[in-house]
Amino acid sequence: MNKPNRFAWLAGGDAQCVNPPDPPPGAPWRLVLLGAPGVGKGTQAELLCDRLHACHLSTGDILRAAGDPGRCNRSPALEAALQSMREGKLVPDATILELVGERGRCLRCCGGWVLDGFPRTVAQAEALQALLDREGVGLDSVFNYELPISEIVTRLGGRRVCTECKAVYHVTRQPPKQPGICDRCGKRLRRREDDRPEAIRTRMRIYEENTGPLLEYYGKKGLLVSIPAHGNPNEIYARTWICGRSVHAGITPPEGAANAASEAGGSAPEPRAQPS
Ligand code: ADP
Repeated sequence: MNKPNRFAWLAGGDAQCVNPPDPPPGAPWRLVLLGAPGVGKGTQAELLCDRLHACHLSTGDILRAAGDPGRCNRSPALEAALQSMREGKLVPDATILELVGERGRCLRCCGGWVLDGFPRTVAQAEALQALLDREGVGLDSVFNYELPISEIVTRLGGRRVCTECKAVYHVTRQPPKQPGICDRCGKRLRRREDDRPEAIRTRMRIYEENTGPLLEYYGKKGLLVSIPAHGNPNEIYARTWICGRSVHAGITPPEGAANAASEAGGSAPEPRAQPS
């Protein structure tokens, strides 16, 4: 089975995926992941997509790809978006919606997808619904990862990311074997610009302002599933997988199911030994 390479999502425009996914045996999964910055959504999205051969659709990754030094021809709106990102602020809805809107075909992808970092506001959630209606696809569920803010700040402050393969580490909790060097590809690790302390504080404030209305929006639609985000990535993945399987089978996970499953040693298929 082909694993999608996300080229069309990251590059936008007329870019085509080199390795488009094969349709899965059953219906494709289509999920939105919510949660504060640093809660581990990106890692869970990767683990789910590895397992499902679905596409990891991250709006933060589109912006980071656009900000790569080798990339030219950035529009003024994109330059402004990159500056907002560096400061830990949200990029204006109009810019994000333009970027996602021009990637509508990724939402139609037969392999399914996991949206990470979008939507972040109710206006974005409403626009996503309109896009999905236009593309004729449905949303299975919205997973909300929950963790106390103090724990998140600790995670973000120590996060380091590989400049090449994007593997994620933590200076004390998941350090690389050699400080500052990626175990996987040997390239340098760096702190994301928006993981500096001032930017972290801004991101947390903005997250708290937007999250209540967004949770209410998806709660009313009956799509919201809460997943505790404590523990290591494989433990969180075990909870995620159990919820995902129920939802995909058309069963609403009973409240607390995710937690009970992982505490009872519920295992997820093929957990990957990977940093962060
Ligand atoms: P994190 O979840 O750790 O903040 P992301 O990669 O999702 O990381 O986002 C990084 C930054 O990109 C955000 O702080 C914000 O500036 C910008 N961004 C990403 N997605 C959106 C979005 N949907 N709406 C507005 N800004 C966004």
